[in-house]
Amino acid sequence: MGFSSAIEVGPAPDGGLYVPRHVPRLEDAAPNSLVQIAIESLGPYLADDPLSGRVAELCSDAFGFGAPLVPVSEDTEVLELFRGPTAAFKDFGARFLAACLSLATTRPRTVLVATSGDTGSAVASAFARRAGFRVFVLFPLGKVSERQRRQLTGFGGNVQAVGVTGTFDDCQSLVKAALARRDLEARHGLLSANSISVGRWLPQLAYFAYASLDFSARHGRSPGIVVPSGNLGNGVAACLAMKMGFPIREVVLAFNANRAVPELFERGEYHPRGAVATPANAMDVGDPSNYERLRWLYPDREVMLREVSAVSISTESILGVVSDVGSRGGLVVCPHTAAGFAARKDRRGAFIIAATAHPAKFEEVVEPRIGYAVALPDELQAAIARPSSQVEIPAELAALERLLA
Ligand SMILES: *Cc1c(COP(=O)(O)O)cnc(C)c1O
Repeated sequence: MGFSSAIEVGPAPDGGLYVPRHVPRLEDAAPNSLVQIAIESLGPYLADDPLSGRVAELCSDAFGFGAPLVPVSEDTEVLELFRGPTAAFKDFGARFLAACLSLATTRPRTVLVATSGDTGSAVASAFARRAGFRVFVLFPLGKVSERQRRQLTGFGGNVQAVGVTGTFDDCQSLVKAALARRDLEARHGLLSANSISVGRWLPQLAYFAYASLDFSARHGRSPGIVVPSGNLGNGVAACLAMKMGFPIREVVLAFNANRAVPELFERGEYHPRGAVATPANAMDVGDPSNYERLRWLYPDREVMLREVSAVSISTESILGVVSDVGSRGGLVVCPHTAAGFAARKDRRGAFIIAATAHPAKFEEVVEPRIGYAVALPDELQAAIARPSSQVEIPAELAALERLLA
């Protein structure tokens, strides 16, 4: 199946996730702008696709806001992935998916997304005001921060924020139940935009390709990359960039107290379980969906252990980094990025640490520890100031069905 067909169906018919048929090698790529590297690195995956002639346009749309590398010491740089409209790395994947679907789809579409925070606003922002799309963002009432709620409920237009009486898992179950109903799917052109979509996952390799080329051109050596990880999409995208031949020495996956993947690396056994709550809540995942893609990329465990490592960072260490890095002046990091800093600490060699969100999105964790307020990026400030509107439903499919009608 081609890329543009795969993004229209979500999970594969057997319940698994789509992966590329081949991993192209791009060993002689030269440093260039993020958009240009995105075009070069993603182009091969769309080569036989109806979208193949539109790659430049898609990449300008999704990567135009850039991802600066900021030095923090002689051998460490931070890759700021939070310069997009909702100030988290998920903007890249969500915008790429939305841009592809705008070109590929032939009928009106209803996008469903369940969120505990970052995903919902990135997807809503990516589809907002795109003709032919409606978006329903389901969030658990009373369980997202006020700032996040304002962000989710301020889009208006074709975006409907839906507060669900229940938990994030209830929201996700509702989305799955709706997608499983053939009649609803057919009537509304339902689509899910969660992180297992290959259209959101694959494009993320581009900024790791870009960062590794840029870093190694300036420093004359290949960096390792640390990726704060939860559902493991971003981390496996970094591994894919390494497999393609971009100058990445190793990938370090930094998890919080949710240890299923670090345990797999230590012991060779994978035991998914319920998620544990931590201050890095966008990484609170007990059974990462993209685990399957890691296994696909590394059928041989020995090779995986040579190229990749995974570490679990305690809540105490995460909070320690937020206080330390922030109080030393200059750089302030979100709790997810803090896990990345902690993972880098005892490792030798040059590293790029992926900064996954702007610290102002997690002000309840960050501000008490650094002792001052973090300024919101302009776009986030504007989003929060917009009039807020939401509907509320019980966690029942019948209620969601009435909304869709
Ligand atoms: C989603 C998210 C993560 C985890 O990314 P995965 O691709 O799910 O591993 C980390 N940090 C932030 C800020 C996020 O929003």
